[in-house]
This record gives sequence, C-alpha cells and structure tokens, in this order.
Amino acid sequence: MRTAAAIIGAGPAGASCAYSLSLKGIENVLIDKRKIIGFPVQCAEFVSRNINQFVNLTEIPSAVNQKVSFMDIDTGKNLYRFEGKGYIINRDVFDDYIVKSAVKAGTNLLKQTNILKINAGENKLTGVDTAGNKSIEINYDYLIIAAGPKNSFDLEGKFKSGLKNKSYIFATQVRADLLKEGGLDSTLCYFRPYIPYGYGWVFPKSKFANVGIGIEKLRVDMPLSSSLNNFLNEIRNKGLIGSEIYGKTSGLVPVSGLNDLYSGNIALCGDAAGLTHPITGAGIVSAVISGGLLGDYVAESIKTSKNLLEEYRQEIESIFKKPLSTASKKRYELYPLMTGEDGIDMFIKQLWPSFEGYYGKQNS
Ligand SMILES: Cc1cc2nc3c(=O)[nH]c(=O)nc-3n(C[C@H](O)[C@H](O)[C@H](O)COP(=O)(O)OP(=O)(O)OC[C@H]3O[C@@H](n4cnc5c(N)ncnc54)[C@H](O)[C@@H]3O)c2cc1C
Repeated sequence: MRTAAAIIGAGPAGASCAYSLSLKGIENVLIDKRKIIGFPVQCAEFVSRNINQFVNLTEIPSAVNQKVSFMDIDTGKNLYRFEGKGYIINRDVFDDYIVKSAVKAGTNLLKQTNILKINAGENKLTGVDTAGNKSIEINYDYLIIAAGPKNSFDLEGKFKSGLKNKSYIFATQVRADLLKEGGLDSTLCYFRPYIPYGYGWVFPKSKFANVGIGIEKLRVDMPLSSSLNNFLNEIRNKGLIGSEIYGKTSGLVPVSGLNDLYSGNIALCGDAAGLTHPITGAGIVSAVISGGLLGDYVAESIKTSKNLLEEYRQEIESIFKKPLSTASKKRYELYPLMTGEDGIDMFIKQLWPSFEGYYGKQNS
C-alpha cells in the first residue's frame, strides 16, 4: 500500500491529525493495533472546558458523562478548592467520534494493524494485520507517530535527543460506586506520603468514580498495588466510595517534557511527543491540539512540496515548551521535599498549577 501520510495510532492525537489531513483533501492512512477504537479506556476522563475550541462536545452528547465545576485538593491537613470547569467524558465514545469524523472526511482506517518496524530510509512501515494474520507494508511520503506514551520504534539515531519519553508516571485506576448522594461537582486530588512523586484522584462519573494513583517508578520502588490499596482504604473509610471494584486499568503518563518533534519527514504528536503535563498528567487536549496542527502542516507540506515540519516544531514549542519545562522542573525540585505531611502543605502551592505560588506570585 502507498499513501501520502501514514499515521501510527488512532488515539486523540493521531485521529485529530488524520481528520485535519482529510479535511484538506490529503490522502492518509490511520493505523491502530486495537480492535475497538478507544477501548479499553486507560484514562481518568477529565477534560477542561477549552476542549470545545477543538472538539465541540455539544455535538456529541453521548461523549459527555457529566460536567464538573471545581477541583478540590486534599493534602491530608487542608482542603483547597479551585474553579475547575470541565467534563468527565466517555473516553471511548470521544476517541471513536474523532476517528469516525476522520473516516467520514476520507481517512483510510486500518484497525487491528500492529506496526512493528519503521524503515525510515525507504519510507516504509511493516507490520501485521492481526485479524487476518497477514504481514503488511505501507509506503509513505510523511509519517506521523501518534502511538501514545511508549513506542518501541528504533529511530534513535534520527532523532537528536531521542524519539522516546525518558520518564513516566505509572498509573493504575479502578472504577467504584460513588456513595455521595447527588454525585460530585468536582474532581478530587489527594497528596499523600504513601503516593510519592504523584497523587491520587477520585473523578466522579455519575453514580461511579474513576479512582487511581500515579507514581514515578524511576524515583521510587514501591509496588503500585500497595499505594492503590492504601488509597482505596482511605477513601472507603471516608465513605466516598463503595467496596465493589468494577475493572482495573493501568497506563503510563510521560513526565519528561517535549521530545524532538520531527526529523526529516517523520513527526510526533500527543503523548509520543511528550506533550502530557508533567504534574497533572493531563494530555487529551494537547493531543488533539498537536494532532490537528500537525495535520495542517503536513497537508501544506504535501500541497506545496516544501517540508514545513520546522514550522510545526516552532508552533508547538511556542505553545507548550515553557509550561511543560516549568512543570517538569518543579516536579523534580519539589516532589522530593514533599515527603511528610508538613512538607506537602509547604510545597503544594508551588507544585500544583492551580495555586498562584506555582507561577512564582507573592502572597500565595
Ligand atoms: C491512568 C491514566 C489516566 C489519565 N487521565 C487523564 C485525564 O483525566 N485527562 C487527560 O487529559 N489525560 C489523562 N491521561 C493522559 C491521556 O490519556 C493521554 O495524554 C492521551 O491518551 C494521549 O493521546 P494520544 O493520542 O497521544 O495517545 P493514546 O491515546 O495512547 O493513543 C495511541 C494509540 O496508538 C496505538 N498504537 C500504539 N503503538 C502502536 C503500533 N505499534 N501500531 C499500531 N497502533 C499503535 C494504541 O493502540 C493507541 O490507540 C491519563 C493517562 C493515564 C495512563
């Protein structure tokens, strides 16, 4: 098979890229190893309300589970409330909607297709169609890697500072019954000594809650399960969730900041580019933004026969470089100081982006 643009990964980044390419009339192939787009969900499913600038959620009511208005931070000693308007989405419906929009606009979707190798010298992908158990080859003019937080492609020589994210939060999450009468209008974040280099969350999903923890394993050798069990016990004892657990998922969140964004005719977007926020772990909106922009630049490159990926790099860096590097720096400087409960209260205001102290303002 031959295509103008091949995209590995049909998450929000890859699908947004494919959609934008198709809208501009550029032939593209969107490839994912999953059988069902968006499934299994490995996400706490919060998006801030600015998502509507990029994907209009009012057009897809089934993607919205509920709205939230606040974010509550619990340090064990104090509770802080911030405005935190956004949505808890049905992530599988959300991802599927973007993919379907791309397909409707002209994208060729290959599901159950696992890309095993990129031969950059020959502009060729090789992989396997796992449904038909056949090998596949795809020749491309431009390649977009939107394969999520971890990829196994061997292109290190081509990308100066590396193609891969260098450090991760290991996250694990369960679904439980939310026992709060009338539900919750806020996302809850918990800082605890037993969740080192990370935090715990309870994000309401109507009658249920997504409850999870994330830890940076490189820095602390603690089994995720013991941290999660401590957390579940604590919030069960508070009467917030029930004892039944409906399914458990795990996943990685990149926390090392931006990677090289392109090399030659190969470019990265979403988690593959390191665009997740190193402290909050939020990455859906930046995946959609970066995928959409990359699609625009690749389309223009193909139409004008002039490689414009350097402009893509500059635009992404102008939006994301400063906030991501500030967050990454603060993560490494301040998390080690938050070992006891006093430490947490002292440093949280400089660490968590909802506090003014995070931005270095006085009186925070
Ligand atoms: C537990 C957890 C909770 C999170 N909660 C939130 C949250 O509440 N809010 C938020 O904004 N962010 C959250 N995130 C982060 C968010 O999920 C990511 O930032 C987002 O999914 C990035 O989108 P993406 O398209 O870059 O990658 P992904 O969504 O990971 O999509 C990558 C796709 O590539 C496919 N793929 C990978 N390798 C190959 C291959 N070799 N061949 C073919 N296909 C391949 C995968 O199957 C996948 O479908 C959370 C992450 C985790 C782990």
